[in-house]
Amino acid sequence: MAGRNHLYIPGPTNVPNEVLNAMHVPMEDHRSPIFPKLLTPLLEDLKKVFNTTTGQAFIFPATGTAGWEVAFTNVLNPGDKVLVYRFGQFAHLWAEMGKRLGFDVEIHQEDWGKGIPLDKLEARLKEDTSHEIKAVLATQNETSTGVTSDIAGVRKALDAANHPAFLFVDGVSSVGSIEFRMDDWGVDAIISGSQKGFMLPAGGAFLGFSAKALKAVETSTYPRCFLDLKDQITTNATGYTPYTPNLPILYGLRKSLDLMFAEGLDNIYARHARLGEGVRRAVAAWGLTTCAQEGFHSNTVTAVVVPADKDAREVISTAFNRYNISLGGGLSEVMGKVFRIGHMGDMNDVSMLGAIAGTEMAMLDCGFDIKAGSGVGAAIEYYRATAK
Ligand code: PLP
Repeated sequence: MAGRNHLYIPGPTNVPNEVLNAMHVPMEDHRSPIFPKLLTPLLEDLKKVFNTTTGQAFIFPATGTAGWEVAFTNVLNPGDKVLVYRFGQFAHLWAEMGKRLGFDVEIHQEDWGKGIPLDKLEARLKEDTSHEIKAVLATQNETSTGVTSDIAGVRKALDAANHPAFLFVDGVSSVGSIEFRMDDWGVDAIISGSQKGFMLPAGGAFLGFSAKALKAVETSTYPRCFLDLKDQITTNATGYTPYTPNLPILYGLRKSLDLMFAEGLDNIYARHARLGEGVRRAVAAWGLTTCAQEGFHSNTVTAVVVPADKDAREVISTAFNRYNISLGGGLSEVMGKVFRIGHMGDMNDVSMLGAIAGTEMAMLDCGFDIKAGSGVGAAIEYYRATAK
């Protein structure tokens, strides 16, 4: 089909041309004297995106899933208890990983569409007077449901309970798009990945650890090898990596960080908030609802609930086959019930209007009772009214 396929999935996101070009490099010696000039500033600059001056950043040639494992196996000890509120597929997978790695995972089920229940969390932490819970796992942005949780609130709950548990945050679909403040929120491990807000292909796990977490790495007895932070710490200190780095990702990251800093992190957060609100207004104009409940709406992805007599998978395949756009599918419990529109990364008003128009066409083709142009019109009104 002529024209480009537009990616409106919540990751991998569209890679800007400047970043694509920056990754198109011949391979080079990663033990050369000039390699540290690439790596060391990247690690420093990731700290700026994480908003930390006291923590340390790491890059693994891996994906976000590996980031979860790095946090588990480096900071905790075998059999440690961790607490997780499960309200979507990624919180679920993170909890399942914990079980498979032999941790004692205390899972509290929440409705898909809600985020971390701060009051319940605080109560549970207060109850744990012997401090058996060693870490709280918090998914900042649950990509499967389009739900954002309040991580500052999670820190407040830990403080209110005077609880020393580590705070691990999955920021795979939030870091670089939605505000994240590692130091201010007392986050001990932040896990993010290259293929979302950083506008890169998958293949980079970008992680941050607090000084408190790094101290625990020294004494953790969990067996690990490829994902051992100690090897990263030793080699990164000299400007190198413990094994062959993913060079194109590193060159691409240099360019994407330059683009992000040129735009300004606060401006990026505001852009995502605006883009997300336009999509939400379109959904309301269609007479549909979002999976996310009030107060939990994500600015990087919207999961749209289809009427009970419709299958969201048909909307997605029609959108792809007829209109050459890619929408995200519903995962696990919400398969067929929602489709997802990603508004993350290299996106602007017109790219979102394309997403909304293509979705509208596909829904009309699938017999949805919506008015042509209704969602597009609502988004246009909002984007024009708030354009700078
Ligand atoms: N956590 C969240 C919130 C995600 O959205 C994803 C992937 O979409 C992951 C974790 C897993 O990351 P990866 O697929 O990079 O391993």
